[in-house]
Amino acid sequence: MADYRPASPDQAELLDALVEAGHLIPSGVPGVYGRGSDYEDVRMRFDAYVTRWSKEAGETPEILRFPPVIPRKQIEDLGYLENFPHLAGTVFAFEGTEGQARAMAESAGKHEDWSEHQCMSDLVLMPAVCYPVYPAIGRRGPLPAGGVTIDPGGSYAFRHEPSGDPARLQMFHMRELVRIAEPETVQAWRDGWRDRAIQLLRGLGLDASFDVAADPFFGRSGRMMAASQKEQALKFEILVQIAGPEPTAIASFNYHQDHFSSLYGITTADGEPAHTACLGFGHERIVLALMKTHGLDVGAWPDEVRRELW
Ligand code: AMP
Ligand code: ZN
Repeated sequence: MADYRPASPDQAELLDALVEAGHLIPSGVPGVYGRGSDYEDVRMRFDAYVTRWSKEAGETPEILRFPPVIPRKQIEDLGYLENFPHLAGTVFAFEGTEGQARAMAESAGKHEDWSEHQCMSDLVLMPAVCYPVYPAIGRRGPLPAGGVTIDPGGSYAFRHEPSGDPARLQMFHMRELVRIAEPETVQAWRDGWRDRAIQLLRGLGLDASFDVAADPFFGRSGRMMAASQKEQALKFEILVQIAGPEPTAIASFNYHQDHFSSLYGITTADGEPAHTACLGFGHERIVLALMKTHGLDVGAWPDEVRRELW
């Protein structure tokens, strides 16, 4: 098995309990699980709960949906491999002859290395659900007055970070919302959602707090990137204690400034460079936090919580 981060004793205990209760279905690979019906029900209800809060805040985001793969060219253009080479998942496929296919199947049948028979495809697994939004909006030309708010939904994201922690998955759902507009509008939107998200999560009985955060940039130069991101307060996270020595980030708020808009030529109605921000709720982590807080029997959750979600 490939390298993976082992679980702390309380993480291992939580994982066992979730599997025992039928909430998670192990695949044999750390960080990849199926989901039972109660778990999935709460996940979908939480997604609808976010939609409700967005509507109550007066938002009418445009709904766009994308598959959980993006063109390899996009992460090449974005410099993703400079920042997060350890997290990317690249899709490889077979393009050889019948003889090579036989050789590959033979190695695979013996569980030997068959990577030499594979070549890189044009796709990578989706690292964050907002990525396809930026080129799509850039293609439309200048933004309408006031910019746009996009709801790319709660789709799958992949991160190559195998772990025994049930809160650290390789494939998970991230519910995002994206704002693209003038810098001040985007900043105000992000700050508004940060406060709203705390309220929305506390409304479900979670002991949620927020903090300035940084992305897990790779290597020594990555530490400098992370320090600069923190200094400029470009990223916030909402944290809840689930299991393990540290609280877990269940939602994130990112202000990208002109990182995406400059690459895709996104301009405001006045022709000025636009800015972008996104927020992401980690579906699986939020369901876990709810189960950790209110118990594994969803039917026995406090009435106040059930009233919000059911
Ligand atoms: P990020 O783009 O890293 O800020 O991630 C957005 C949200 O996705 C985070 O706030 C988490 O709730 C969730 N998330 C990130 N990585 C993982 C993971 N490995 N497993 C489960 N959820 C994750
Ligand atoms: Zn995003």
